Amino acid sequence: MFKTTIAGSLPKPGWLAETGKLWPRWMQEGEALARAKLDATLLWIKLQEEAGLDVIADGEQARQHFVHGFLEQVEGIDFDHKVEMGIRNDRYKAMVPQVVAPLRLKGRVHAAEAQFLRAHTDRRTKFTLPGPMTIVDTVADRFYGDRVKMAFAFAELLNEEALALQADGIDVIQFDEPAFNVYLDEAATWGVEALERAAQGLTCTTAVHICYGYGIQANIDWKNTLGEEWRQYEKVFPALAAISIKQVSLECIHSRVPADLMALLAGKDVMVGVIDVASDTIETPEEVADTIGRALQFVPQRHLIACTNCGLAPMSREVAQGKLEALVKGAALAAERVR
Ligand code: ZN
Repeated sequence: MFKTTIAGSLPKPGWLAETGKLWPRWMQEGEALARAKLDATLLWIKLQEEAGLDVIADGEQARQHFVHGFLEQVEGIDFDHKVEMGIRNDRYKAMVPQVVAPLRLKGRVHAAEAQFLRAHTDRRTKFTLPGPMTIVDTVADRFYGDRVKMAFAFAELLNEEALALQADGIDVIQFDEPAFNVYLDEAATWGVEALERAAQGLTCTTAVHICYGYGIQANIDWKNTLGEEWRQYEKVFPALAAISIKQVSLECIHSRVPADLMALLAGKDVMVGVIDVASDTIETPEEVADTIGRALQFVPQRHLIACTNCGLAPMSREVAQGKLEALVKGAALAAERVR
């Protein structure tokens, strides 16, 4: 009854990249790296199937980081001279590449892993791309001099790749916009407009993922400053309800997001986060089912999809596997409860 999927990323095996890191170094080069990326993708396709997930993702095994993986195929970006920049409103510092010229795609970005994903599962497939606002917040601008202009330039490139992913046979294309929870007014205006531009012309299922970030210390510290109720979604959800994006992925379990905010997404499929990515403790099916039960007060049954709060990338493989199993078992239990 309740479909299951993940927000996007999964841990990379030690033979592919450094483990336990958000920006890991690759352990291979050239042809061997290309092969290892697809081998790791196959491993996770099968582990997701084995866990019983309905919509299968590539686990972002072929990209070093969810934003920079896309940027590597964009002309006009200087990767050789990275600079330190405070990102997500200075929540943490990162070494980021610089935009130095007009942006253009060098070619396909994710053809290899998307076609590989499509070829190796019969289930529905999902592919993630960074959203325009989040990209703009994860790169240094030395050319456009205007965040909105640069966001729309990226949105056009994202749209080009998204249409190609759809032609590859991908069923769900999701844009990741954690920046929507940081720049609340801008998200509700040009952020959502740039997102709509990125999704223009897509006829497959479209989605947006908005979270409070990976379970890294800087994010945990930030969450501790947000008070008793996290109302960040309140501004952007009504703006999202008005555009064509079909699914919205949000954090729920162990967050202080008031569940009633989900009611602002009337008409959308809601991917409810029922798996915590900031803790290695594996949820019980009961806990997952309870979280789904809470969401059902504000989301109609047919619109509820069980999902993770965010990506599982920095975790150990064992923990991630345990969490995928808990997700599926909990969704089945929740379905039993409402029958
Ligand atoms: Zn996330």
